[in-house]
Order: sequence, then C-alpha cells, then structure tokens
Amino acid sequence: MLLEFKQVSKQYGTDTKALTNVNFAVSEGEFVSIIGPSGAGKSTLLRCINRMIDASSGEILFHGVDMLASKKSELKRLRTQMGMVFQHYNLVDRLSVIENVLHGRLGYKSTLEGVLGLYSKEEKHQAFTILRTLGLEEQVYKRCDQLSGGQKQRVGIARALVQNPKMLLCDEPIASLDPNASKVIMDHLRNISTTMGITVIVNLHQVDTALKYSDRILGVNKGTIVYDGHPSGINREQ
Ligand code: ADP
Ligand code: ADP
Repeated sequence: MLLEFKQVSKQYGTDTKALTNVNFAVSEGEFVSIIGPSGAGKSTLLRCINRMIDASSGEILFHGVDMLASKKSELKRLRTQMGMVFQHYNLVDRLSVIENVLHGRLGYKSTLEGVLGLYSKEEKHQAFTILRTLGLEEQVYKRCDQLSGGQKQRVGIARALVQNPKMLLCDEPIASLDPNASKVIMDHLRNISTTMGITVIVNLHQVDTALKYSDRILGVNKGTIVYDGHPSGINREQ
C-alpha cells in the first residue's frame, strides 16, 4: 500500500475538529479525488499527508513508514516523493519557467537569478522533457509573471514532477482557472497517472470533474469520510 491513514484526527486550537478518526488507504497508481463542501476538511486532509500540517493523532503511513513519527531528515526524503500542486501555483514570479522547475528539484538551493549553471546537463534535460510533455516548450525562458493561469499551473506540475515523485498532492489545482484551462490541467493529471504510474490525490470542489476523471472518490463531510469508492456510486442529486 502506498498511503494509509489510520484513525487520523486534526484539531485546530481548542475547539475546531477539522478531521475525526479518518481511515483510508491508497494503492500505487490510483487517481483519487477528495470532494465535499467548503470547510469539510479536504485541504486539511491533503496537507496532513506530507505534514505541511501536522495531524493531532493517528498514523499516516507512506510505504509503511509513519510520517508523523519521522525525524526531519527522513521527512525531507519522504517529501521529495510527494509532489505538491497548489491552487495559487506558488511560483517565484520573477524567475523563468525553467528556473522555477529546477529549483523545485533541488529544494531552492539558491534564490539567485541566473542560476541555470548550477544544474547538470541531465537535470536540465529532464526539466525540458517534462516541460515539453506539458506543452510549455515555448515558455521555457519566460518569466512566470508573463504566463496565463493555466500555464502557471502546468509549471507547478512540472516543478513537482522533476522530483520523480511517487505521488502528486493537488490542492484545488483548478479552482482559479477557467473551464478550458481546467480541462487541460485535469487531462494532464490523468495522463500523469495513467502513463507515468504516479498516484494522484486531488482536492476538487467541482463534483462532475471529480466523477469524470477519478478511479476513486473520497467524500468528506464535517471531518469524516462519508464516501469511499468508485465514482459511479455517487448520487449527483445529493
Ligand atoms: P476544506 O478544504 O474542505 O474547505 P479545510 O480543511 O480548509 O476544509 O477546513 C476544515 C475546518 O478547519 C474548517 O472548519 C476550517 O475553518 C478549519 N481550519 C482550517 N484551517 C485552519 C487553521 N489554520 N486554523 C483554524 N482552523 C482552521
Ligand atoms: P550545458 O550548457 O550544460 O550543455 P544546456 O542548457 O545547453 O546545458 O543543455 C542541457 C540539456 O538541456 C541539453 O542536453 C538538452 O537536452 C536540454 N536543452 C537545453 N536547451 C534546450 C531547449 N531550448 N529546448 C529543449 N531542450 C533543451
């Protein structure tokens, strides 16, 4: 099993219970969408996976290793296997596309501009290959603040992919995009899962999109899992 949640709870402060005894397991290569109303706990759940947020109790196993018990160095290593994609892209706007992508790989070892020389031929070659796959070959040397939202999100995905992750965690990746750009992003995520065998876990508030693209749906409401199964089991009228 790639990822297991066992009795995971998260409380913010003294009285906000964002997650209560959450249990689920994800196998390698699955495309899983997390859906549910605003405030249900979707973002908290996703961010607990790589410990961007620390769960309050329970076990989060990645390849059987307990993330919550991992020390800093171990955690760093595990996190490189979990690429993260954000709603607001989280790019360095004044840097070029290729610089943003390569920095992702090396964990921002430098924030200076003009740092392409720091990276090996192989590293650059891999970055170019990924950018081409995502249809960004024309944008490689553009500054990120000159890109459309959909292009920025593809850069975000490329930055995650150069780490050779086992899993992509995508937190509302299309919430800021128009329908056309959203479709492009979802098609890329689906393709990454199918052709590269990378597990994709994505938070979506668009239920129809989740049903169309996913192998599996995790329905979250009030901090608990209320549905775990095939998209065909979801009643759209609910
Ligand atoms: P969703 O992603 O489904 O909208 P969230 O995980 O963002 O849900 O939020 C779940 C609950 O936790 C909500 O009640 C929200 O207000 C609360 N919450 C989220 N983040 C914080 C935080 N940093 N501090 C306090 N409460 C928070
Ligand atoms: P170096 O100066 O170390 O040779 P380069 O930046 O010239 O590094 O190229 C490194 C690798 O990146 C090349 O082998 C090539 O695969 C790829 N590459 C460089 N520039 C481009 C480009 N404009 N389009 C596609 N791939 C490129």
